[in-house]
Amino acid sequence: MPLYEYECPACGETFSLLKKISQKDDPTPCPNCQQASKRLISSFALSGSSNGGAASRPPSAPSGFG
Ligand SMILES: [Zn+2]
Repeated sequence: MPLYEYECPACGETFSLLKKISQKDDPTPCPNCQQASKRLISSFALSGSSNGGAASRPPSAPSGFG
């Protein structure tokens, strides 16, 4: 999923979200004030892949196993 940038017209908060392309134009609430934010034009200038920048996941405990 590509990363989209949004800007809140109410408080000016800018944030980025991973969304499906089909959902890129869906209403996105601002994380600061929950107002509908506007999607910014993001440039896909990010070429290549960086190693070691993966987000760490919290340890998931297997539930109901055994
Ligand atoms: Zn806001």
